[in-house]
Order: sequence, then C-alpha cells, then structure tokens
Amino acid sequence: MRLINLDGRLQVSTPAGFIDVEAESHGFFSSEPQKIYERWSEFTAWYAGNRDRLIPAHGRGIDPARLGSPVPAPRQLFAVGLNYADHAAESGVERPESPVIFTKFASAISGPVTTVPLPSDTVDWEVELVVVIGRGGRNIAADRAWEAVAGLSVGQDLSDRGRQLAGPVPQFSLAKSHRGFAPIGPALVTIDEFDDPDDLTLEAGINGELVQFGRTAQMIFPVRTLIEHLSRTLELYPGDVVFTGTPAGVGVGRTPQRFLAPDDVLRSRITGIGELVQTFTAGEPATTRV
Ligand code: ZN
Repeated sequence: MRLINLDGRLQVSTPAGFIDVEAESHGFFSSEPQKIYERWSEFTAWYAGNRDRLIPAHGRGIDPARLGSPVPAPRQLFAVGLNYADHAAESGVERPESPVIFTKFASAISGPVTTVPLPSDTVDWEVELVVVIGRGGRNIAADRAWEAVAGLSVGQDLSDRGRQLAGPVPQFSLAKSHRGFAPIGPALVTIDEFDDPDDLTLEAGINGELVQFGRTAQMIFPVRTLIEHLSRTLELYPGDVVFTGTPAGVGVGRTPQRFLAPDDVLRSRITGIGELVQTFTAGEPATTRV
C-alpha cells in the first residue's frame, strides 16, 4: 500500500487513482494523515478487507506540489548520524560503536516537492531512508522490529554545516531544523511492497549530476537494530519518524567542499518509494539584533 497526503487529506495511491480514506470509510478514519498511525493495524485490516469496493476519487497526474508529508506531525523525530561507513570516513570520524542519535524538530517537515530558502551558504544534502513507526512500544527486540514499522519513505536531512560545526562541540538539531529542512515523501510505502526492505537503492542528484549513491544494506546499524536501540531507552509512538542516516557524497566531505546555491535543484530517490525535489532560493538576509 502507498499512502499519500494530498492537500492535507490521507489517500491510498493505487494504479486506478487515489482513494480518499475518510470519504471511502464514511468517516470511520480521519482525513488527517498523522492520525492513521494510531490505528495502524485496524486501518490496514480495513483496507485489505475492502480494497476491491473502494472507489478512487482522484485521477493521476496531480501537481506534486500539492503533496504533503505522509507523516506531517510526529511526536518524535529521530535521526541517525554516521550510519554508513563511507560517510563516516568522509566525515573524518571513526565508525561508531553504537548508533549516534539526534533529533530534527518537527516544524522542519515538509512535503516532497518544495522550494527551500537557504539560511546560509553552507547548506548540505543527505538523502536518507525514513522509517515511520506503526505500533511502537518499548524494548522491541531486533527480530520483531519490522512488526513495529508502518512503512518507509524518502527523506532529505538538510543541514547547515556552518552552524552544525561552529562552537566547542558540533550541535546537530537546530542546524538541521530550518524551515523546509526535513522534506518527506512522496509516499509512505508499506513493508510488504518490498522484496527486501533492508536493501534499497538510494541516491541524490543536483542539477542532474549524481552526488550520492548507496544501498540501505550498507547501514552500519540496520533498521531492526535502530528500533531495538531506541526502544531500549524510550517509547516509540505510532507515527514517530526515524531518519536512518546517509551514504557518502555529501558536500562537506568533498575537496573542495560544495554546498547548495540558489536555483540548485536537488532530487533524492529511493527505489520503490519515489523522489523528493527541492529547489533552493536565496534566504532572507540575516537580521542582526543589538
Ligand atoms: Zn542525516
């Protein structure tokens, strides 16, 4: 199943068109995309039992700018640093012994096709597999971890490196939470849609030039390990989001370094899920307070 957020309404995307979940369930399920994760098993059972009777209400070929994030307002948004050995190497740090976890704040989330104002001249790209939690819980064992997942999506972990690396120690969360810095989409794809959800191809390109390419099978800590690790400390809630790390090819690791500039178009893709498209513009000039 592929879930999308069209104009703020939850839809199932099918080859015949989009099924409006609230309308076709006669109000049994909310139109709000974030709410579906609270009733995930009930929803997937309803869809499986009724899919042949449901009537698509929209055609294909919509303007992708109408799409929002399929998970627009998670209670918790985790991100994983240095989860691919080649990216750790280009960052000049040792391969981590355990997952490096930080957060992106939820107000940075956007839909898949957006225009992003650049707050500085040191904004970098990181294509990432995004995991959305379905059932959640605490102390989820790795061998049961996929059962806690609603589905997968594509994310861009946009990062202001100047801000991230300034100061006595790197700080991740604010530098990665500017407006539009967490695009997610274009769909939430359930695990049954993948031959092997642990081995997906991910790539990013700028103005048609491939800058990142990897496979999620190269993760140092795979999805099941990340879920076990997180849920040992905290409770994972339905609809929580995990950005699972990026492969090599980011701008800060290049010689010379390269960052996003106004008019650049960044495309981020994962096989079997789809594509994000971010176009960058000059940001507001920084205001100085005295
Ligand atoms: Zn990242």
